[in-house]
Amino acid sequence: MKLIPLPAFQDNYLWLLHDGRRALVVDPGDASPVLAALDEGGLQLEAILVTHHHPDHVGGVDALRDATGARVFGPARERIPEPLQRLAEGDAIEVLGLRFEVLDVPGHTAGHIAYHCPDFEGAPLLFCGDTLFSGGCGRLFEGTAAQMHDSLGKLAALPGNTRVCCTHEYTLGNLKFATAVEPGNSRLIHYRQQCEQRRSRGEPTLPSTIALEREVNPFLRTRVPAVTQAAHAYNAADERDEVAVFAALRQWKNEFR
Ligand SMILES: [Zn+2]
Ligand SMILES: [Zn+2]
Repeated sequence: MKLIPLPAFQDNYLWLLHDGRRALVVDPGDASPVLAALDEGGLQLEAILVTHHHPDHVGGVDALRDATGARVFGPARERIPEPLQRLAEGDAIEVLGLRFEVLDVPGHTAGHIAYHCPDFEGAPLLFCGDTLFSGGCGRLFEGTAAQMHDSLGKLAALPGNTRVCCTHEYTLGNLKFATAVEPGNSRLIHYRQQCEQRRSRGEPTLPSTIALEREVNPFLRTRVPAVTQAAHAYNAADERDEVAVFAALRQWKNEFR
């Protein structure tokens, strides 16, 4: 099977997964790159998986459903173009012979969900929308720091070899911030160099993995002394309070240039 990040807008990826015949797409904010890829590969679109309601994630849903008859899946508690099958944590769906388990990951939006496939050609796969990015996380538009911290904790607890398919190419900006938080993290310094090389060749930095994110992503490292100390230096956050550390990091990132 093939897993392809189709670039869209400024920095979105519309993830297309196919077996040479049938395909699924995640968060199609725009129908046209998806239709072009389906046409080029002679693929039938079977399913559209939506993580949350933002226009850059759902803008192409109606056009793709109309053009292909694909089934649409999305979060139980958000306004998504109907008709669709609504999902919440504990639900599982089968698409292209793959099982996807649903996780509730509120924070970026109130009803955000993620799709976790425990076995995609021998390793797990995660579609996490705008919750987890490589080196960073989504902004808190509708949820609290405590919710987002909890959601990221769920994702960080997935197996280390889980490939992480984020929906934006924000990696370099995130790693610049991560380096300001943890200048002495050698794994981070090395990964940042790798990503700069990939971007200079015009390649995506994604997918990432959960194991890598645990080592480089400050938002998953709210117990690591270097990170808690940096958060405390930023706004006197209580170093023993993981949510306060997370909230300090999120605030700091919002202001970081
Ligand atoms: Zn979003
Ligand atoms: Zn987005």
